[in-house]
Order: sequence, then C-alpha cells, then structure tokens
Amino acid sequence: MAKDSYNLAGKVALVTGASSGLGRRAAIALTGSGARVALTARRVDRLEALEAEITDGGGQAVPFVLDVRDPVGIERVVAEIESAMGPIEILVNNAGVSVVKRPEDFTVEDYDYIHETNVKGPFFLAQLVGREMIKRGQGGKIINISSMMALRVLGKLTLYAMSKAAIGQMTKQLALEWARHDIQVNAICPGYIETEMNRDHWQTEEGRGQIAGMPRRRMPQPEVMDGMLLLLASEKSDYITGTLIPVDDGQVLM
Ligand code: NDP
Repeated sequence: MAKDSYNLAGKVALVTGASSGLGRRAAIALTGSGARVALTARRVDRLEALEAEITDGGGQAVPFVLDVRDPVGIERVVAEIESAMGPIEILVNNAGVSVVKRPEDFTVEDYDYIHETNVKGPFFLAQLVGREMIKRGQGGKIINISSMMALRVLGKLTLYAMSKAAIGQMTKQLALEWARHDIQVNAICPGYIETEMNRDHWQTEEGRGQIAGMPRRRMPQPEVMDGMLLLLASEKSDYITGTLIPVDDGQVLM
C-alpha cells in the first residue's frame, strides 16, 4: 500500500540516527518505497546490520559513520554520500538525545550535549544539503524529527523541550526562505514511541502509570511514523511546507 501511494524509486535519502529506533525504522520505510538510503550514525556495526537487513529484503542502503556534532565531519560525509550515491533529495534529520533532570540540576555539559546534537547538527546538515539542492535547482524534502515537546510541557525535560522547539522554528524559517527553491521543510512531532531512548522507563511503575494515563493507554512502536514520513518524503506533499505535525496518538492533547 505504502509502496503504491508514495513511490520514492530512484530518490536518494540521508537518514541521521539510523542505528536505532525511529531512524532505523525511517530507513526501512524509505527503502521499502524504493528510495536508496544513506544510513548514518556513530555505531557502524548497527548500520552494517541494518544495511544487510535492507539488502536482504531487496532494498538499497549504504552505511556512513557520522557524528552530527562535528561540522567538519558533516561536510565530509555529505560529499562522500553524494559522490557514492548521487544528489541527496530527501534529508531526515532524526538523530537526537535527551537528558532527564529537574531544571535546577542541569549542567553546562548537559546543555551543550543536547543543543549540539538536537539543534546545531540538524541545522548545519540542513544547510549543507539545502545548498546542494539550491545549486541543482530541482527542489527537495527536508524532514526534521522534532517532538510533541515542541508543543507542550512535561517535567524534567526543559533542555530537550527547548531544543525541539528550536527545531520547530528552524523548520518554519527554512521552509519560507527556501520555498522558491521548491524545497519543502516539515517537522514531525512524535509523542512517546518505544525506543532505546525510553524503553527502560516504560518497565518502571512510574512508566506504566504514565501509559495508563495516555489517551489511548498504549505505547506506540516506531512503525506509527511510516505514513507521515513517507507522505512528507514524496511528491504527494509538494504543497505542504513549514508545518509541525504531531504523530502522537493524542498525547499532545493532555
Ligand atoms: P534512540 O535513542 O533509539 O536513537 C537515537 C539515534 O540518534 C541513534 O541512532 C543514535 O545513533 C543517534 N545519535 C545520537 N547522538 C548522535 C550523534 N552525536 N551523531 C549522530 N547520531 C547520533 O532514540 P529515538 O529513535 O527515540 O529518537 C530519534 C529521534 O526522535 C530523536 O530526535 C528524538 O528526540 C525524537 N523523538 C523520539 C521520541 C520517542 O518517544 N522515542 C518522541 C519524540 C521525538 P548512534 O548512537 O549510533 O550515533
């Protein structure tokens, strides 16, 4: 169904944070719709295992080691990807981290870690990929993975929420400034989805209580993002830009 609706045959996509959780799933969904995907993250063993899984299923993916906090590395890896795979037409800015603390306990190190991974990295990656898209003049799609935390508040997540709100505003700025280059820039704002980022928490009493209080009383799995991701990656969304779209099972309503 997704294959027929969102045909990405021949497109080259770059996914950050493809070694785990939502990025891993995004790579599977994109290759399942025909895209060739550059799998990036720091843990190369995970990327190689995913490459093998995708290739076995008939898809095409190539791993590249990338730490999004390293601007020089970003430039080198984007050049490597474009020379090995062709121009990047879809960027999924997904890599992200969180630190859970009360506001009075955060350190400067926590701030830098979150900001460099969740804001600085995605901006400079979008800048590089966007520049190439502008030069080629054939448009493109940038999908930023923000969070429902750009749209609501919850305890112990101040720095994370700030970073995800920044990504939301970056999405709108880039969408406007690159509109005439036919580059659509959108953000998905997931609610809680079970990944390595939070899996242990859902086993605790507090975590189970939180799930029981959610509108649908359930913990979504990474596949729930497939539909929105493929829509935003495909030409079916050519008239959608600068949006922050919740995919959250109603969690932002609480
Ligand atoms: P995971 O912890 O499962 O995955 C995080 C990914 O980010 C890993 O692939 C990791 O790869 C990568 N990453 C972390 N730091 C860096 C870095 N410096 N350079 C490159 N890659 C990095 O988390 P999720 O899949 O849940 O999170 C993915 C995105 O979704 C994040 O932006 C997160 O904020 C967002 N999100 C998640 C929600 C959830 O409930 N799961 C809800 C809302 C938003 P590696 O360590 O190999 O480098």
